Amino acid sequence: MVKKTKGQELAGKILTDRKSLVDKPSAEDMAKADEFCVGYKAFLNNKTEREVVDYVLPILAEHGYKEYKRGTKYRAGSKFYKVNRGKTILMCTKGRRPVAEGVRVSVAHIDSPRLDFKPHPLFEDASMAYFKTHYYGGIKKYQWTTIPLSVRGVVYTKKGEKVTVKIGEGEDEPALLITDLLPHLAQTQMRKTAGEVVEGEQLNLLIGSIPYDDEKVKDRVKLAVMKILNDKYGITEDDFETAELCAVPAFIPRDMGLDRSMIAAYGQDDSSCAYAEFMAELDTKSPEYTTVTIFADKEETGSDGVTGMRSFFFRDFLEDLAQDEGCEVRDVLRHSVCLSCDVSAGLDPAWPEVMERNNCCFMNRGPCLAKYDGSRGKYSTNDASAEMMNYVISIFRDAGVSWQIGELGKIDQGGGGTIASEISVHSIDTVDIGVPVLSMHAPIEVTCKADVYMLYKAVRAVYDSKRPKDF
Ligand code: MN
Ligand code: MN
Repeated sequence: MVKKTKGQELAGKILTDRKSLVDKPSAEDMAKADEFCVGYKAFLNNKTEREVVDYVLPILAEHGYKEYKRGTKYRAGSKFYKVNRGKTILMCTKGRRPVAEGVRVSVAHIDSPRLDFKPHPLFEDASMAYFKTHYYGGIKKYQWTTIPLSVRGVVYTKKGEKVTVKIGEGEDEPALLITDLLPHLAQTQMRKTAGEVVEGEQLNLLIGSIPYDDEKVKDRVKLAVMKILNDKYGITEDDFETAELCAVPAFIPRDMGLDRSMIAAYGQDDSSCAYAEFMAELDTKSPEYTTVTIFADKEETGSDGVTGMRSFFFRDFLEDLAQDEGCEVRDVLRHSVCLSCDVSAGLDPAWPEVMERNNCCFMNRGPCLAKYDGSRGKYSTNDASAEMMNYVISIFRDAGVSWQIGELGKIDQGGGGTIASEISVHSIDTVDIGVPVLSMHAPIEVTCKADVYMLYKAVRAVYDSKRPKDF
């Protein structure tokens, strides 16, 4: 071995050494990451909150999870879950210690930016039929034209039957898409700002062009496509008023890069984090503290509504757990810690100007801890305390987890919030951590496999830790 110089030795002791995950931890971890992401790609085929919840329920049953029942005396190692309205789910493994000594929470969201249907979506124009959409979450609208989209969701018929819809996914299914203007006639369009190049009211999904064979009716193309839907699903146009339908990118999740080190897929904000914490929850067998793993809805639109994290269902659930063990929920909350697992922006060399290189996240360097997010002068942020940072980082160090710390981007470039504020309002110490992403909120987002796997290890480390919250 080459002897280190005095300066090299000193630097090793007192300076931070940031290396990519590919160089730093073991080749074994990299191989595990590849294997881990086979299941991740399957998970990514679930593209709405309802689909994710439906997907995980049988997996939970296989792993011995039972539906939570109030008043049950759960033994250490028992596994249970509670679904909130088919769109949010809480999954737990009972710890050896009473919940009064705190629980270990991780939360990720399972909703992603997309195009929701308007209540009256169907119309005909210029002998073509369309669905009208209203975008959900923060998107660059121009990115959603001329790509294959699939339609998903539920419709309630007048008889009260729930019909599940899934069209346009897979090679034998028809593609549905939103058209864009030809460049030859786009002189005016190209002078517009990017936010106006394609406007919300132009996000109409083209779904048919053959008229119904009866010249006596009007809107014959509309009638013809409605007949297709009626034949297949038994629904009528009225039923769109009692439906939740949306269009999502129809791409299949796949390996990316010549080295296959990355994943290209829709919805990785925040399914990358959801999958990591889900696997950590399943693999945690007999934790010291009860785990509470949450899949949340409505994060992309501000966490409002009965399935968003601003709703009381989370607190009600903890109150139930407290009552089951004869303690006060406030004691549970005060002794608990939470990892708010949401993606972060990785540095993209095409746009380095929005990042500050000493405090940004890089792809393949592990999940990114964010002490705070928000915008401007740290407005609207949970700002994790030094004590909380020390708590989680010391656990990561002991468990051999790679992580990095960064801000979302440069000061005053924009910003964003996460669920962390919705958790810390309950007096639970919370910190953000998430997978770095390129092209966030685009129809296809990019992550590194090693980062997704390392987030799993991070959540596992916190769930497996016996360290009490001592601050
Ligand atoms: Mn997110
Ligand atoms: Mn997002």
